[in-house]
Order: sequence, then C-alpha cells, then structure tokens
Amino acid sequence: MGYSLAEAAANLGAEVYLVSGPSELKQPNNIKEFIKINSTKQMYNEVSKRFDNCDIFISCAAVADYKPKNYSNIKIKKSDEDLVIELDRNPDILFEMGKKKKNQFLVGFAAETNDILANASNKLNKKNLDMIIANNAKVMNQDENEVTIIKKNGPIVKLASDLKENLAYEIMAEIIKTI
Ligand code: C5P
Repeated sequence: MGYSLAEAAANLGAEVYLVSGPSELKQPNNIKEFIKINSTKQMYNEVSKRFDNCDIFISCAAVADYKPKNYSNIKIKKSDEDLVIELDRNPDILFEMGKKKKNQFLVGFAAETNDILANASNKLNKKNLDMIIANNAKVMNQDENEVTIIKKNGPIVKLASDLKENLAYEIMAEIIKTI
C-alpha cells in the first residue's frame, strides 16, 4: 500500500520521499527520493530528519514494535534448555511524529483483527493523527484492500474493495479534500 500511495502522490504532483524497509516491490515512478532502511531505528532517524519540512506524513509501514535485545554474528548452538529471546521496544515513529507535529497532516494505518473501527479511532487520538486508514490485518501482502477512513472530527468514509493502486488515488483524494 505504501508504494502505491507514494506513486499516486508523486503522480498528483507531490514531492515524495519514500522511506522503505526491504521489499521486492519496484521503486515507484516519479518520486523525489527513495531511502532504504533495515531497521525501525533507521526509519525513525530518516523520518525525523525530514519531518520538519514535510506537509503530509503518511505512515504506512508495518513497523516492528520490538527488536531482539542481543544479536549474535555466529550461529546460536542449541542446548537441551528452552531458548528465551529477550526483546526491546522499538520507537513508535508515528507516535513520536504526532508529538512533534506543527502544521503537518498526519495519516496513520491501523491493521486490526477485531473491533476495527474502535481500535483505529483510539489510535487516531493516541497518536495525534488527522486521519487513520483502518483495514483488516488479513490483507497484508494481498493485491486488493478494503479500507475505512476515519478523520479527526470528520465523517467516516468506507471505500469499496479495490486494487491497492486504485485505492491509493482514492485515499489521496480524501487527504486533498481534508487538508
Ligand atoms: O499501534 P499500531 O502499531 O497498531 O499503529 C499502526 C500505525 O503506527 C501505522 O501507521 C504504523 O506505520 C505506525 N507505527 C510506527 N512505529 C511503530 C509501530 C507502528 O510508526 N513502531
């Protein structure tokens, strides 16, 4: 969905900076800069660097909330005991940008398995967003998506199921209507 949104925004005339983790998708056309990262911390740093100068921040990445506390460069040998992997919290990039926000229009995504609208509305408020796109978590890595757009103080807009590249234009149209 992120790559489709980046291409739609660029085709509509925006100067797009796409910060992306590893993906087999091809780089979208017409974007200003394609920034590749491998960790949540790197994504946080790249987004932070550009945030003050951006008008619209769309946070679409399914970012890892935790990372392993310890890394091993060599193979971890098995033992007879169970293995416990300790995890550290990663930064919540969108939440942090929500705290920094001045005039930026912030759009988040909420992939939920249950109580989709209620959970998405809570996230809209908690992360200080202007809009949240709620969808069912089962659509990850699928070509099609069906989303509901919740706006701060605005109506709820349900978009019919469609290919992600078509939905991207409909989502961009809602953003343009709202800003
Ligand atoms: O809280 P939850 O992970 O469900 O929120 C999803 C939204 O937050 C998405 O827009 C996602 O890109 C963003 N997010 C983030 N940093 C994280 C986790 C999620 O920016 N560590």
